[in-house]
Amino acid sequence: MNVLANYPPTEELQAIDSAHHLHPFSHANELASKGPRVITSAKGVWLKDSNGEEIIDGMAGLWCVNIGYGRDELADAAARQMRELPYYNTFFKTTTVPALMLAKKLAELAPAHMNQVFFASGGSDANDTNIRLVRTYWAEKGQPERNVIISRWNAYHGSTIGGTSLGGMKAMHGQGGLPIPGIEFIDQPNWWAEGGDTKPEDFGLERARQLEEKIKEIGPEKVAAFIAEPIQGAGGVIVPPDTYWPEIQRIVKKYGILLIADEVICGFGRTGNWFGSETVGIEPDIMTIAKGLSSGYAPIGGSIVSDEVAEVLRDTEFNHGYTYSGHPVSCAVALENLRILEEEGIVDTVRDVTAPYLKEKWEALADHPLVGEAKIVGMMASVALTPDKATRATFAAESGTAGFICRDRCFANNVIMRSVGDRMIIAPPLSITCEEIDILIARATKSLDEAYEKLKADGLLVAAS
Ligand SMILES: *Cc1c(COP(=O)(O)O)cnc(C)c1O
Repeated sequence: MNVLANYPPTEELQAIDSAHHLHPFSHANELASKGPRVITSAKGVWLKDSNGEEIIDGMAGLWCVNIGYGRDELADAAARQMRELPYYNTFFKTTTVPALMLAKKLAELAPAHMNQVFFASGGSDANDTNIRLVRTYWAEKGQPERNVIISRWNAYHGSTIGGTSLGGMKAMHGQGGLPIPGIEFIDQPNWWAEGGDTKPEDFGLERARQLEEKIKEIGPEKVAAFIAEPIQGAGGVIVPPDTYWPEIQRIVKKYGILLIADEVICGFGRTGNWFGSETVGIEPDIMTIAKGLSSGYAPIGGSIVSDEVAEVLRDTEFNHGYTYSGHPVSCAVALENLRILEEEGIVDTVRDVTAPYLKEKWEALADHPLVGEAKIVGMMASVALTPDKATRATFAAESGTAGFICRDRCFANNVIMRSVGDRMIIAPPLSITCEEIDILIARATKSLDEAYEKLKADGLLVAAS
């Protein structure tokens, strides 16, 4: 009997899950005591669970289901490719049609100076590739001592050893003795939380100039690259002041260090352009891609590199690769996903219609008594929860307490929003319609109202001293 076609009732599924399944980024006992929600099917922006509840997915899975759920074209592309050629490698003087065609398509979509792609299975391992790639690049150029990569606190670059090391999440560094050597950090451009009395524009410049100070401190001749997300995602959808990115671009140019734009979330339409780099106006040497590349229908990631970087790497054998680099099924699915994004004009619709519509509604949330700032770029947005807007106060309660209360209300109201500390974030499928945005906003507002009442009742609307 097919266990997937005839599965047992919810409680039994939850018991099996607790007994055998270790979840990422989860506290196992806490999860077991509540029982995970079992998601069974999805269509468009709507998820269905094992109890038949319909939930609007404000997070596009994990920021990845850009075209929305339930597109048969991708299922057909996968089935066709599995029948034709389910797997072959690209290591030993061989290639496959889906891999080379996807690389060509990515070169078309990427900025003009970027025309070569190295494939990985996801974003984390693509960033592992980037560590080895930039160090190999400098070694090939006769500067092997240039091996330090600068990143930012509260950045997210994945969960492998390399990805965690590049990321600036201290709770992640704490498990497993990370970061690896040769990774340095500067502060994030989070004006709301860290800007104090400084004006946002000045703060943006200050935070960018930390890069220059750090380069001088390390010695410019030792710095290989700077890595950053155009807009920080998992860190809480932190939108930098407008002054930030131009100054970063000036600094990396001045010292000749490589700029790695981690486009894993920002890529493929999320910010209203094909890449976040276009939205913030930068010219990266390497772009990390994953998530929206296949809309999450199949695992795939990669690094798109500039002609200059590719030229240097061509002179050596890069002793690196994954069994699933350029996996034909994932590549076929990604190609179909990109075809839909392009032919249905989804990125244009986001930029011209749905993102402006969402922006107006989202920014109005700043009037809510629990909300400090409301930030949005394209289809990624955040609100900072606060007990006192005027002073941009944090809560006296441990960070994340208010966020969890709000997230639980969202869960109860059948809308998926994520909490990051005491920020609430969304990144819905790019296929979301204006009517669906109305539903998302209505449910988010209801959840904020209920969270506000609960925080008040529990005596938690208190500012940290
Ligand atoms: C999710 C994410 C990653 C990691 O991608 P995985 O596919 O989970 O390995 C890397 N960088 C950014 C910016 C991400 O959001």
